[in-house]
Amino acid sequence: MTQTEDYAAAQHEKEVKKYLDHIFSIVKQRNPHEKEFLQAVKMFLHSLTPVFIKNPKYIQHNVLARIVEPERMITFQVPWVDDKGNMQVNRGYRVQFNSAIGPYKGGLRFHPSVSASIIKFLGFEQIFKNSLTGQAIGGGKGGSDFDPKGKSDNEIMRFCQSFMTELAKYIGPDIDIPAGDIGVGKREIGYLFGQYKRMSGQYHAGVLTGKGLSYGGSLGRTEATGYGTIYFVEEMLKDAGLSFKGRTVVVSGSGNVSIYAMEKAIRLGARVVACSDSDGYIYDENGINIETVKKVKEENNDRIHAYLKEHKDAKYFSGCSGIWGIPCDVALPCATQNEIGREEANQLLINGVQAVGEGANMPCTSEAIQVFQTNGVLFGPAKAVNAGGVAASSLEMAQNSSRISWSFEEVDTKLQEIMKNIYNSCVTAAAAYNHPGNLVIGADIAGFTNVADTMIEHGA
Ligand code: NDP
Repeated sequence: MTQTEDYAAAQHEKEVKKYLDHIFSIVKQRNPHEKEFLQAVKMFLHSLTPVFIKNPKYIQHNVLARIVEPERMITFQVPWVDDKGNMQVNRGYRVQFNSAIGPYKGGLRFHPSVSASIIKFLGFEQIFKNSLTGQAIGGGKGGSDFDPKGKSDNEIMRFCQSFMTELAKYIGPDIDIPAGDIGVGKREIGYLFGQYKRMSGQYHAGVLTGKGLSYGGSLGRTEATGYGTIYFVEEMLKDAGLSFKGRTVVVSGSGNVSIYAMEKAIRLGARVVACSDSDGYIYDENGINIETVKKVKEENNDRIHAYLKEHKDAKYFSGCSGIWGIPCDVALPCATQNEIGREEANQLLINGVQAVGEGANMPCTSEAIQVFQTNGVLFGPAKAVNAGGVAASSLEMAQNSSRISWSFEEVDTKLQEIMKNIYNSCVTAAAAYNHPGNLVIGADIAGFTNVADTMIEHGA
């Protein structure tokens, strides 16, 4: 490059950064109190500089300004009657963020921490995650600040029916297809589906995913996010000449994603030594017994410390963040957002962690990611690592449309292929934009370009 070309390139980069800063300032102005949403957008925009430098068309079409603004955000009242006959009221949300490449698709979260900010950060991430799967699905997310903990089955049912009474106006098999997330499992999906069926007077199996097997669910969907997480991390390890065999693994959470991530890691020869819930964590030096965890969490709906009743050598500790002080080779945060900050990341590093895979959505802060990336720790970002869940949901939709059911092996084989493809797309995009090995940048770029190019084709 000549000196003049160097100067022009530097000027161009400055202009691009100015444009990205401008977009972020608009997002900040419009959503001033939405901490998690702003965090997700900021991290994402940071990855895009090299794409915008190479492709001026994205600035010319101003696609970013549209991508950061939801196409639709629905907020509604959810009144329901508790077992004592008292009327309770919660708030429901559905964000229909982007439908460039397909109908909106994304889970529902029931947790007291749910807010517009949480739903929008999840919906925003979902756009690019769905795009990475290679399936024709747009991005959405929803939920409520309802706390399912401590509620009876009848209370959960009444809440779900009331929630769906409002949500039904906005969804449909070709419009928006919700699924589960934190606090929304098979039981909740069943109640939501039943209410949708009564209201529509039709049997639209494809309106929700994560359904029970008797009414259109897919084999392999329950396992998909956790297994997919391991398939992705396995690829990362393989590229570095490593594998799960003999490695010590720590997994946070003990819900859907965690349980099946632990199960698959154990099957691949790893020694999983710890997992948690929102009260505390267990440490089992002998290796976590996954059947006991399933019994405690899935069958008995109990707290994780009940694991100790069957495993006397295991230890229980109160509080969540201490789990990251346990020495491990592979850390898999699979519970919730912002579980690993700078401090926890440094602790993992001191203890020799080799790889981190985000099973949950945005479980690592940007400071934590920086600690991992600047110290040579293999790092897999959520929108790629945990995309197996939505990919299998899409396979469930395909089965619903064609009225056939695939075997567990068929779904699992397709899932493995999809996770490999996602991994390869991230690696290829990172290398093409001069950040080889940076899977955060790779995932963001690969997810973004597909959506942005389609928006331009649609005349955005
Ligand atoms: P579950 O409700 O099945 O399990 C969540 C687990 O995380 C529980 O063990 C829960 O403990 C723990 N947890 C929840 N909130 C907190 C908190 N604030 N602090 C500490 N622990 C907490 O949810 P999933 O397994 O489905 O989801 C886990 C993560 O994976 C979420 O980030 C979700 O968005 C993401 N994800 C899920 C997908 C899916 O298919 N289910 C797909 C892609 C991503 P407790 O029981 O005490 O609440």
